[in-house]
Amino acid sequence: MAEPSSDLSPFEAVQYFFHDVADQLGIDDPTREVLNGTYREIRVQLPIRRDDGRVDTFYGYRVQHNGARGPYKGGVRFHQAADLDEVRALASLMTWKTAVVKVPFGGAKGGVQVDPSTLSRPENERLTRRYMSQVSYIVGKKRDIMAPDMNTNAQTMAWMMDTWGRSYGHEPAIVTGKPLTLGGSHGRDAATGRGVVMVLDAAAEQHGWQPENLTVAIQGYGNVGSWTARIAAERGYRIVAVSDISGAIYAPDGLSIEMLDKHVAEAGTVAGFESTEPIDNNTLLELDVDVLIPAALGEVVHHLNADRIRAGTIIEAANHPVTPVADSILADRGVTVIPDVLANAGGVTVSYFEWTQNIQEFKWTEEQVNEQLGRYMRTAYRKVRERSEDLETTLRRAAFAIGISEVAEAAHLRGYV
Ligand code: GLU
Repeated sequence: MAEPSSDLSPFEAVQYFFHDVADQLGIDDPTREVLNGTYREIRVQLPIRRDDGRVDTFYGYRVQHNGARGPYKGGVRFHQAADLDEVRALASLMTWKTAVVKVPFGGAKGGVQVDPSTLSRPENERLTRRYMSQVSYIVGKKRDIMAPDMNTNAQTMAWMMDTWGRSYGHEPAIVTGKPLTLGGSHGRDAATGRGVVMVLDAAAEQHGWQPENLTVAIQGYGNVGSWTARIAAERGYRIVAVSDISGAIYAPDGLSIEMLDKHVAEAGTVAGFESTEPIDNNTLLELDVDVLIPAALGEVVHHLNADRIRAGTIIEAANHPVTPVADSILADRGVTVIPDVLANAGGVTVSYFEWTQNIQEFKWTEEQVNEQLGRYMRTAYRKVRERSEDLETTLRRAAFAIGISEVAEAAHLRGYV
């Protein structure tokens, strides 16, 4: 495989990782065509009335990448960068992610291209409902199940379930990540962050690291970053830096996440938290820490800063935070990257538990959810690690090898190719 270029789009980057591993696995061309491309892509126009009476039009996407292993599954994000290419990339990552953790779903993703900070709550509700009604004919509990992602949450899912139900009848399993009172699962809100920490625990156990001796920097303090920080701190890891869009903070002796949460509740940002040094987001990525956890946007570690990363291990809590060029620079430098399709799979795993609870009309306790999540994450970590040892390759290539082999087998058994 030729060296990756530094200006790949998000979908081209995922395709690079795909072909790199498909070459190693000797996947034939017709199978590659089916696995690499997307099954269905839709773009919908979303005019909404603003609170002041004007009408503004936004655009939304839903990409169903591959459904060989089960119904399409994946979140919906509201973000200004959520164009068709990015949504395709994220849909494809969902296909490999669900296969790596062995939950019986395919991969999909949705996006509405909007800066959500410009929307009032009623505008956000109108946009969410409009999006769901425009894509409603391609979703279904056995077809395509949406969930939260960047800038969407349990409230978004409640509006989506309600909108879909008005046309087709009440159906909690139509979306996951719902509020508890509407059929959501215990533990879903924290699940992605909890899964990230389970992966960190598994790595620590493998290498004999003690949590209290390990320094961790987390980029992003949204749902994933903040839960990762909370649960990692509970487990004794030393969180020395965190950030959000307003800035980053550094405290070499470790942050009290409990106090930080109080500060965030009042100030609306991590910036300005007492007894910390203000730094910028780029500096956070380059801190001399043991573990770096990018938990926000994609492509934050790239060809210009990969040489300056000092962490020995990167855990990809965000989707596609490391570009292919950076990935190969980091591999050459001996930095371990635990890839997104493994590290952030806790969210979709608990979405699977939520979906099964909805179908059974039964509720698990939080202990049951977390225990099962631990089993899925530890098994996935062990399989990826073993595959990387067998193939003498990186954890990303090993995870893609597992994902691609699973999906190829399902596609062959169904007779797609
Ligand atoms: N949006 C999350 C992800 O990227 C969760 C998807 C889901 O629960 O379906 O994995």
